[in-house]
Amino acid sequence: MFETDLTGVPQTSATGGVPDAERMDDLVAHAHARYADLDEGEVADYIPILAEADRSWFGVALTDARGGSHVAGDVDVAFSIQSISKAFVFALACEALGHEAIHDVVGVNNTGLAFNSVVAVELNDGSPMNSMVNAGAIATTALLPAAHADERWQRIRDGLSRFAGRPLALDGEVYRSESFTNHRNQALARLLQSYDRLAIDPVEAVDLYTRQCSLSVTARDLAVMGATLAHGGVNPVTGDRVVSADTARDTLSLLASCGMYERSGEWLFEIGLPAKSGVAGGIVAIAPGKGAVGTFSPPLDPAGNSVRGQRACAYLSRALGLNLFASAPLTSSDAASPEGVLS
Ligand code: GLU
Repeated sequence: MFETDLTGVPQTSATGGVPDAERMDDLVAHAHARYADLDEGEVADYIPILAEADRSWFGVALTDARGGSHVAGDVDVAFSIQSISKAFVFALACEALGHEAIHDVVGVNNTGLAFNSVVAVELNDGSPMNSMVNAGAIATTALLPAAHADERWQRIRDGLSRFAGRPLALDGEVYRSESFTNHRNQALARLLQSYDRLAIDPVEAVDLYTRQCSLSVTARDLAVMGATLAHGGVNPVTGDRVVSADTARDTLSLLASCGMYERSGEWLFEIGLPAKSGVAGGIVAIAPGKGAVGTFSPPLDPAGNSVRGQRACAYLSRALGLNLFASAPLTSSDAASPEGVLS
């Protein structure tokens, strides 16, 4: 169960817009203050360099759909994007190949199993299942059209940079640390190859996937990247159309069902937003049409989700009325259609 601890926080309905900028600043500051002293969870160490993170780091950023920024705490500390890259590489692949191809070649259903599961591939006749688990993410990266590995990498880095609205750099230390220890991802790529489900050489596919996971971001970046998906594919800060509105929609629906791995159902039940987390401690949670929350705090729960980050997202979802499922009845003055919803 996701720990949310929202006793006493009234549920604001998702009907209508978001509050004014000052109120959003206050709520983000409050989300940070409320959980800054919560010292639970473990910092990931299966990628050795990640264990060096400071467990007290905590940043909360919200970018609204008009590009307004509301931040508190360590929002400019850089960390590796890790699995959160899967959401944005999926968007690039979906944009390039289309809705049908992604649906047919990779799949869009949750595995119900861990993010790096080999069993999930075996149980599903070699299908990578969805782009948010490692097998599906490696298969998705391999699908990006390019003449060679360098061009494919440029495409990923440039695409994710446009989502962030600034050039994102590779963290070489993270890339090397993960390259020496990513045996399981190499095994997954070989397994996909054995089922003829990988479009390029498995060594190249895993190398590219490892690079995309090693891109360096901040909580502030995650909020802008998410807000681009919340804003029909247009970066609300730079005005750059990064992907189409259809691709943004498809990405968010996939995140809703698969973004938090095998705990996606619990996340949706508690927080009600499409989201993606990464093992370095980042989370991005997206409220379509409203904006996105980016959080960073390294200690993780047993499923690999940042403990402070999930609490801050839960708080903001409730207090700002972001939960997609929290509606309120229309009042008579809201009934604008000729038939009138209330008539
Ligand atoms: N690069 C990491 C891996 O493949 C990403 C995992 C994650 O962030 O969940 O293991």
